[in-house]
Amino acid sequence: MKTLILPASDPATVSQAAEIIRAGGLVAIPTETVYGLGANAMDEEAVAKIFLAKGRPQDNPLIIHISCAEELTRYCHDIPEAAWLLAERFWPGPLTMVLPVKPCVPKRTTAGLSTVAVRCPKTQVTRELIRAAGVPIAAPSANLSGKPSTTTAAHVLHDYGTGGRIDAIIDGGPCEVGVESTIVDLTGEKPRLLRPGGITPEELRDLLGELEIDRAVLAQISDDTVVRAPGMKYKHYAPSAEVYIVSGSSEAAAAYVRRRFTEGDAVLCFEEELPLFAGCNPTAYGKYGDMKTLSAGLFAALRELDRPEIKTIYARCPEGGGIACAVGNRLKKAAAFRVVDPEADQ
Ligand code: AMP
Ligand code: MG
Repeated sequence: MKTLILPASDPATVSQAAEIIRAGGLVAIPTETVYGLGANAMDEEAVAKIFLAKGRPQDNPLIIHISCAEELTRYCHDIPEAAWLLAERFWPGPLTMVLPVKPCVPKRTTAGLSTVAVRCPKTQVTRELIRAAGVPIAAPSANLSGKPSTTTAAHVLHDYGTGGRIDAIIDGGPCEVGVESTIVDLTGEKPRLLRPGGITPEELRDLLGELEIDRAVLAQISDDTVVRAPGMKYKHYAPSAEVYIVSGSSEAAAAYVRRRFTEGDAVLCFEEELPLFAGCNPTAYGKYGDMKTLSAGLFAALRELDRPEIKTIYARCPEGGGIACAVGNRLKKAAAFRVVDPEADQ
């Protein structure tokens, strides 16, 4: 069986994909964050296929995607006022909420937790698909487990081929945000940020008044640690090369890399820095002066650099709040939190 490529603009796409979802198949879906690998969240067997196709550990629960905020009450209970406020402000959009789960949601979807992660994505074709299928769609990022996320249909094709490992891919073009959704846990005493994304910590704090930042956002978590978002402990987003973040000024970083540069090395930097890294095999993933281009371009660049001849990648990483928080989190995870300070290594 071949994998169908369904253009988002084709009027037949939604009904074709909805039929596959209802029949228990797998459809890669475009969202504003990254492409997801979707299946009927209420069908244990369909959900099992997602884990199998991705090679995803069974204890890593899935986000379920709904078509509007009203659908929250079907799958969640004890929904706090904060959830409705967040939904009103940020849905449809790149925000996932963790809430107490109703028993109707299969354990395979939630990895047996008492909570479920829910999002209403912005991409219209995907919301139409959820509505047409009549079920919520469970969808982790569509990449093979451990690899950089997929932000184009071509990335999904690269990971799964056309041989039927997944039933269809809806091609909705490149993803606008480019990093996975912000995850907020609303089941504790205070709202807690489990994963930074397109909705920034500042935006959340503005609306909620308070926000705790989970330690998994900022540091490496070992495999045997119990974490609130189980996915945060796994090595993620990484090309096969060793990635090192080089901090400090552009000039100091360029001097540091030039001192070390050998065959098999590459640089991942901001567009503004390309001339400084000339001769050091540089790839730009976006403009430092336009942070959104960094989030939109990060995974495509990491995939581009995922080549056997590249052994070491020196990466430049934005610091601070806003969208830089999400970009920095993904890049530091790709680097297993290895950060070098060029000023300390003259
Ligand atoms: P992915 O879609 O591949 O980015 O993975 C979804 C992320 O959501 C993973 O980090 C999961 O651990 C996290 N997640 C899903 N369900 C829950 C939940 N009930 N509580 C906390 N985190 C969750
Ligand atoms: Mg993922």
